[in-house]
Amino acid sequence: MANIISHTVKNISHSISNSWTSVLYSTLLISGSRMAKTQWEKLFMIWLAEHDQNHVGLGMVGIDFDDIFWIISDFEKQKEFVVGIAQNTIDEKYWNQLDYETDGDTLTQLLNLWINVFSNAQIVDVIPRGDFNWYNKPNLSEIEMKCPIHHIFLNQLGNTEKDCCYLCYYN
Ligand SMILES: [Zn+2]
Repeated sequence: MANIISHTVKNISHSISNSWTSVLYSTLLISGSRMAKTQWEKLFMIWLAEHDQNHVGLGMVGIDFDDIFWIISDFEKQKEFVVGIAQNTIDEKYWNQLDYETDGDTLTQLLNLWINVFSNAQIVDVIPRGDFNWYNKPNLSEIEMKCPIHHIFLNQLGNTEKDCCYLCYYN
């Protein structure tokens, strides 16, 4: 099984193995948790952190362009953030902060797929939706919560802080 990064209505679809998906999202969380400033950016990171195969199942964590709660008036900034967290991962080689060895060249290819899917999308592609497709949406009072060890945003899918951290739980 695998996960799909896609923009389905534009016939763009990339299949990524379950294990590489976890590496990809782990590094995006490291990068994006440092970069997120606005409420939307923090919510995006928490929503990304929900894409945890330990909680929701192997092969269940693909992301389509249309899954994202784009807001038309902020779309260009939101797109810049979503692309930027991947570019920053490449620039800063954030895979070196993982607790395990990984192949930076392969990961860079996957990060570039992510960048391509989102950087090629335009505002006319946005199909308005009411929210992200949450499993367990945090209260706005909880969106600053980060793992004290990994400094990444936590999802709300576990019973303990460790269970809610993509990197603690993955190890
Ligand atoms: Zn952690």
